Amino acid sequence: MAKSKFEYVRQFETDDTCLRNCYIVVRLDGRNFHKFSEKHNFAKPNDNRALGLMTRSAQSVMEELEDVVIAYGQSDEFSFVFKRTSTWFKRRASKLMTHVASQFSSSYVFYWKEYFAEQPLLYPPGFDGRVVLYPSNRNLRDYLSWRQADCHVNNLYNTSFWTLIQKGGLTTIQAEERLKGTLAADKNEILFSDFDINYNNEPMLLRKGTTLIWEKVRPNEAVTKMVKLPNAEEQKEITVTRSRKRVCPHHCDIIGDQFWEEHPDILER
Ligand code: ATP
Ligand code: ATP
Ligand code: MG
Ligand code: MG
Ligand code: MG
Ligand code: MG
Repeated sequence: MAKSKFEYVRQFETDDTCLRNCYIVVRLDGRNFHKFSEKHNFAKPNDNRALGLMTRSAQSVMEELEDVVIAYGQSDEFSFVFKRTSTWFKRRASKLMTHVASQFSSSYVFYWKEYFAEQPLLYPPGFDGRVVLYPSNRNLRDYLSWRQADCHVNNLYNTSFWTLIQKGGLTTIQAEERLKGTLAADKNEILFSDFDINYNNEPMLLRKGTTLIWEKVRPNEAVTKMVKLPNAEEQKEITVTRSRKRVCPHHCDIIGDQFWEEHPDILER
């Protein structure tokens, strides 16, 4: 095609190719969800509808985009890990990040009604994104551990904070004051002795967040296909077995070794 004299402006585009051999992590976070959750009457401290919708949107990202091997989410954030060898969009950071963010955001709106039947969506939500590269399996596992530890710390705080308000009758200021300077053990103790709540019995979804991975659907699906053999006039019917995979949620610990030993094919050697 003939080039126009304007063509040179393309030279202004900068190279943002992600370093080879690294895991590419895209983390999304809801924009101003403190306000969004209030306006849409999220249950405090945890709204299960909202968590379900986040997970559904992340599932859509994994199904529609190539090469995401694991995703982890909690609160208003989700991290997507592309396999080290991915060549999707020539590993261009901006392409990967914007495709993840837009697929996620449009899914969040698209599936809203399935999760919030009675609650209308009042305005279009947005998500920011960032790209981080991790060169080793250890670094990647530490990244995911960091996000899960964050989930734990925040959830323990939020559970204590809202229990003091909802069951203890404190104001938000009093609850904040009560928790100032407390360690994890103190919060566990407040929940247990004042409210008869054993934090360890709180749902795994809330304490551990959501991990999405690809898993084989068993048994393998047998499909019959009509194929035209080379050098043959007629078509022939053959049966092939396909191992179908689908995205499955887990609410378990991913900091220790057990999860990774049970799913050895997520990380590349
Ligand atoms: P920013 O735009 O900087 O991310 P933010 O208001 O989204 O601002 P975050 O640190 O991301 O701040 O916190 C997200 C907030 O969204 C939480 O503090 C909580 O109030 C709310 N939130 C997110 N998910 C849920 C949920 N499932 N149930 C109840 N509240 C939620
Ligand atoms: P990619 O994912 O690489 O961008 P693409 O199919 O979106 O692939 P584009 O070069 O962006 O390719 O072209 C967009 C195409 O979408 C156009 O070629 C046209 O077929 C279609 N399209 C976009 N807007 C309209 C419109 N308003 N009316 C009709 N067709 C449209
Ligand atoms: Mg933030
Ligand atoms: Mg946010
Ligand atoms: Mg957040
Ligand atoms: Mg296009």
